[in-house]
Amino acid sequence: MSTKINKLEFPSLGYGFEALKPHIDKLTMQIHYTKHHQAYFGNLLAAVKDTDTENLDFEVVLKNISKYPVSIRNNGGGHFNHSLFWSILSPNGGGEAKGELKKAIVDQFGSFAKFKELFDNAAKTRFGSGWAWLGVNSDKKLFVSSTPNQDNPLMDVAEQKGTPILGLDVWEHAYYLNYQNRRPDYISAFWNVINWDEVEKKYSRLLVG
Ligand code: MN
Repeated sequence: MSTKINKLEFPSLGYGFEALKPHIDKLTMQIHYTKHHQAYFGNLLAAVKDTDTENLDFEVVLKNISKYPVSIRNNGGGHFNHSLFWSILSPNGGGEAKGELKKAIVDQFGSFAKFKELFDNAAKTRFGSGWAWLGVNSDKKLFVSSTPNQDNPLMDVAEQKGTPILGLDVWEHAYYLNYQNRRPDYISAFWNVINWDEVEKKYSRLLVG
């Protein structure tokens, strides 16, 4: 999916702000989507406006992010990460991965429970603001990682590089209204709203590509 930065669109949610209750509350969703994500998106477009970068492919820029200004790293990451985040959430989510993804998870991490433990730990131990990820590397192997701020595994600055297929926002703005300081409770609740069909779709696309 290659898209020039000046052709990027603000994604629709696909469900209501209240749809993920009680796991993620309505006001958090509303502010997160209409204020935080909108700001990253607007700031990204402003940062590239009237520069050569606006005609470049968004993912190519992210993959070479060390060559670009920090405003593009922060806001480009913010737009990519939140777009992914909304897409892997669903009011009908939860349960476990299915199909080939489930097989790969069991194959690589030992069990779904072991993978969950690794992911939870990545999310809990990310100091300050950032994200936890399930990604696919260039050898098509799965990995669990975390990144600070709005970085992500696509970026050349990431410790573990690859394409994220599942991400959890652990910035306080993602949970503080409902969970205050209890990030682990928010992380536990996240598992109830993961859209595994969408995660599987992202995984399958990478296996083919
Ligand atoms: Mn966020």
